[in-house]
Amino acid sequence: MYDIAIIGAGPAGSTLARLVAVRYRVLLIDKRQLTGNESTPWSQKCCGGLLAPDAQKILSQFGLGLPKHVLVDPQIFVVRAIDQTHNLERYYQRFYINLDRYRFDCWLLSMVPATVDVRPGMRFIGFDAIDGGYGIQLQKKGKIFKERAKVVVGADGAASRVRRMVAGDKPSPNKYIAVQEWIESNDAVPYFSTFFDQSITDFYGWTIPKGDMILVGVALPPKKDVVKKFKQLKQGLNRQGLLLGKTIAREGAVINRPLSIKQIYTGTGGVALLGEAAGWISPSSAEGFSYAFKSARYLADALNHSLAGFNNRYARSTRNMRFNIVLKNLKSPFMYNNLLRKIILRSGFKSVQLLK
Ligand SMILES: Cc1cc2nc3c(=O)[nH]c(=O)nc-3n(C[C@H](O)[C@H](O)[C@H](O)COP(=O)(O)OP(=O)(O)OC[C@H]3O[C@@H](n4cnc5c(N)ncnc54)[C@H](O)[C@@H]3O)c2cc1C
Repeated sequence: MYDIAIIGAGPAGSTLARLVAVRYRVLLIDKRQLTGNESTPWSQKCCGGLLAPDAQKILSQFGLGLPKHVLVDPQIFVVRAIDQTHNLERYYQRFYINLDRYRFDCWLLSMVPATVDVRPGMRFIGFDAIDGGYGIQLQKKGKIFKERAKVVVGADGAASRVRRMVAGDKPSPNKYIAVQEWIESNDAVPYFSTFFDQSITDFYGWTIPKGDMILVGVALPPKKDVVKKFKQLKQGLNRQGLLLGKTIAREGAVINRPLSIKQIYTGTGGVALLGEAAGWISPSSAEGFSYAFKSARYLADALNHSLAGFNNRYARSTRNMRFNIVLKNLKSPFMYNNLLRKIILRSGFKSVQLLK
């Protein structure tokens, strides 16, 4: 029997596996292949791939530095905020590391010690409580496999199956559908551009330059004419002369937006939830890497202490993360309330002037 089975080898799952491997017998599974082959828009998790300062800080606390092959041109110092409702535009200085998301995930996985049993291309189906732990059902190429573990960790992202199995009537974070296109563009400006348009979404849209392409995306409330709204966003960008190339790929993903800390759920008994599966993600910017790393660190500390009572220790240690979610929700109206955003953008507060 494994001590810990981790479902999902994204940033949260791989980091946890790395941090608990010395003490425990660990199984790490992911439905993706994550073989480290050349990345394409099709092999990525649908993501903006920007490593924000909060996430950089935690990598520094882990004592890690990024290898060159996970970086993509250009590195980004400017955020352009465009309010399409009021026709306003401002620039802000920010420090993002621009990543190839697939290579970033492979790099995080490459640091998992060889003692961990890593199974790529394997899908988690379900689990049952058994004597001393859980019986886990997995599927690979149509075949069913069974494993046993004392502890199960759901690090399986925004649409977590593990969470659905244990959360009962606990409230889920608000769900959005993120749609992204990879568009050819050799002369995209080196900005992370954000778009606010109430007629499209109450969250936001973005463009991010990635090498010789530009990533165009938007987070939309579900069941709200997703295809039509995405088209509307692109038409607006075309009118501004921002999108000229051919679309190479389109992708989509669920994205969580925890509007209340009641929507965060860290698990119960021998089942823990980690990263976005628990609801850890910024409700104002959709930045999720720092939360994935932090929650992995807190859960690793709780597990490394002992398996007995680990879930209570994990929940207690994430108090500062809950407080952070409250703060982000307090900040949100300044970005998403039409009137407040208009006042802030008009004032030019904390913006920078582009020198021509
Ligand atoms: C469009 C978009 C843009 C984003 N941009 C950014 C950004 O620029 N910067 C940022 O910080 N955050 C961004 N985020 C958020 C960020 O991607 C997530 O918060 C972060 O990846 C969460 O990490 P995680 O390990 O918890 O989950 P994930 O990265 O989602 O990893 C979950 C893993 O579980 C696996 N999995 C899922 N189900 C199963 C199953 N049944 N069986 C086996 N394996 C399974 C998946 O294959 C995946 O590898 C973005 C999100 C979206 C949707």
